[in-house]
Amino acid sequence: MTMNIAVLPGDGIGPEIIKQALRVLDVLKNEGMDMTFTDAPLGGQAYDQYGHPYPEFTQKICRAADAVLLGAVGGPQYDNLDRPLRPERGLLGIRKDLGLFANLRPAVLYPELANASTLKPEVVAGLDIMIVRELTGDVYFGQPRGMRVNEEGEREGFNTMIYKESEVRRIAHVAFGIAMKRGKKLCSVDKANVLETTEFWKEIVIDVAKEYPEVELSHMYVDNAAMQLIRNPKQFDVMVTGNIFGDILSDEASMLTGSIGMLASASLNETKKGLYEPSHGSAPDIAGKNLANPIATVLSVAMMLRYTFDNEAAAVRIENAIKKVLAAGYRTGDIYEEGMKRVSCSEMGDQIVAAL
Ligand code: NAD
Repeated sequence: MTMNIAVLPGDGIGPEIIKQALRVLDVLKNEGMDMTFTDAPLGGQAYDQYGHPYPEFTQKICRAADAVLLGAVGGPQYDNLDRPLRPERGLLGIRKDLGLFANLRPAVLYPELANASTLKPEVVAGLDIMIVRELTGDVYFGQPRGMRVNEEGEREGFNTMIYKESEVRRIAHVAFGIAMKRGKKLCSVDKANVLETTEFWKEIVIDVAKEYPEVELSHMYVDNAAMQLIRNPKQFDVMVTGNIFGDILSDEASMLTGSIGMLASASLNETKKGLYEPSHGSAPDIAGKNLANPIATVLSVAMMLRYTFDNEAAAVRIENAIKKVLAAGYRTGDIYEEGMKRVSCSEMGDQIVAAL
């Protein structure tokens, strides 16, 4: 089966990091893996070419693809555009268009980079957590919402926290499925003592758990989860939670690792089609200087092979190549430490390709 991959380099450092990720995929292609790449613009790049951050041209290519590989979008030159035309709207647009409801955010800290974290090395070295965040529901999208003058004549703002059973079931299945591929431990995060929406969430997760008897399920209130992530993050394997809690906890977890240039992400729909991208932005401050760390993007490629194309062996091979390069002391500026070998974005790509 041909793997059809849409490639959206985007803005800022996007094209530089995507170039290195494609070199890694080229190694696999040259060995016989059947894949095609189709380029399309997103974000500011798309606005410049088509006047829209997610134009029809890109929509068609992304809908037809099995997976989408994205660099990053955004830049100061677009900050004054009308909201619907801003690069970030391109991201919201593609997520909605492809029905990407499951956001996977790994927080992995390689032992070699333990000093990059603000926490003590013994607390974080070897950390390997996967946060599964529901991406299309919850208080971010619930209706009614808005601002109004209430019956007492006072202004107020309001949103609705809401989850349908089908929405909780499908994200729970994704999370249990991932736990099965990893350490078989799943922690569902809620605020069931205060919020009915999440009491309901917990009830459904417990029901879905019956289909995954091998997975050890636990539950934690979100405030405690935020504390435990700092106190003893290695207790977690996979965490699953709703949109707003996941937004906050996944950022918190990513900072345990201290190095934004290392963090991959995936957003999946019901057919396992996925959008794969680094967790960081377009880093306009270092764009075009060959300084960016391409590892988050290369790790996103590993996730693509694992979650959309079910090729665990190829994913592990890429992850091992990165471990090898780090163990050999190669570092881009963002993760550089005294005594290491400082390399550019393209030189980091050279090393990863060589290690493969
Ligand atoms: P950012 O992640 O782009 O940059 C934050 C800091 O981290 C900067 O100092 C940057 O140089 C550094 N950094 C980020 N990625 C790096 C890498 N791979 N290697 C080395 N250093 C790296 O966040 P920001 O500065 O808040 O946002 C810049 C632009 O990116 C904005 O327009 C924002 O809207 C956009 N953005 C896009 C996405 C996305 O595409 N998914 C996500 C976040 C922000």
